Amino acid sequence: MSRIGAALIGAMLQASKNTQEWSSLASSVTISERQSKADMKDISFLGLPPELRLRIYEHALRFESTLQRPVRPNAWCVFDGYVANVALLSTSKLIHKEAKDAFYEVNKFNVSYNTICYCENQYPYPPLEQRLGVVRVTNFFPRIEEAQICNFCYASGYGLLEHLIDMPKLRRASIVFEDIFNFADYTPELLQELATEHTTDLSSNEVGTVQVLGLKIQLSLELPALQGAWSALARGEKARHARHGVPAENTMRRALEYLRFEANTYDRTAVTLLPFFVADNAQETRVLRTGGIATDSKMRADFTIALAGVMNDIFADEGGSDSVTWAEIEGKKECRRWEFCEKTKAERQARIEGFIYEDDD
Ligand SMILES: [Zn+2]
Repeated sequence: MSRIGAALIGAMLQASKNTQEWSSLASSVTISERQSKADMKDISFLGLPPELRLRIYEHALRFESTLQRPVRPNAWCVFDGYVANVALLSTSKLIHKEAKDAFYEVNKFNVSYNTICYCENQYPYPPLEQRLGVVRVTNFFPRIEEAQICNFCYASGYGLLEHLIDMPKLRRASIVFEDIFNFADYTPELLQELATEHTTDLSSNEVGTVQVLGLKIQLSLELPALQGAWSALARGEKARHARHGVPAENTMRRALEYLRFEANTYDRTAVTLLPFFVADNAQETRVLRTGGIATDSKMRADFTIALAGVMNDIFADEGGSDSVTWAEIEGKKECRRWEFCEKTKAERQARIEGFIYEDDD
């Protein structure tokens, strides 16, 4: 069997995940039974029309999982540890040339910032592949104190944003911060830089993500640590999140739990956190609500940025707390800045979590 034949069969097996699409495609390339055996000898893959070859590439090289680059620069693997079968790409120069665009266009890619920043890394992978359509840059941590700052770290990481915006095929990008300190320090700065060049707006579906609207790509800034910790505290999903946590999530969750402890035990909270919670003394038990986020998506984005900043300030001194000014919770019935409680009683009830303790009276 020829190399192309073997690679194609591998690719077809790979594509068999998309059985329905594949079978419709396969039927369109099935040779008519009426065709003579002599004719069949003349059929080769490269003899197919280019458009048909392109469709085959798109099916054969499409992977459901996000692909990430492992140690070998030219290999891509799926998140569960299996190396993606891209053998088709190395069958011939022509096929490589034709198929590579399709491969980059139809897949989602995950790239660690550590592999592209070349401030210290002497052997970085080539910069972000120009043909990528969807990319997620994880471990975002721009260096600012190196003697030589790389193009991506330039202007506190704004270099990466500029690079992404200029990528010709890019449709969607996420920049994932795993550390609350980076997120709190850099996000306002990056947004400010963006605002000098572009007219942007913010949006968010949940705490921990910020979508930047108005650019030619869809750009999200993510803080999964905050997202995970917040939902764990707000919705009591600790066990579920504990198993699939991101690196900084445990720190973040401990931080929130520490604040809950302060609230429950001493009836106080950091002054700077008051805008994020709602204390309600009208009921028999006093409740400081963390659950629920603003219904307005712009406000949710602002909320994420502001909360990350406040948490950052509180924990920057390792919880020591001379820098934290505490405030009594009692009597703080509502918060004007984040009105989380504009809900029916039933909806509220579903959201109330934590910060509950029995009143002494
Ligand atoms: Zn760098």
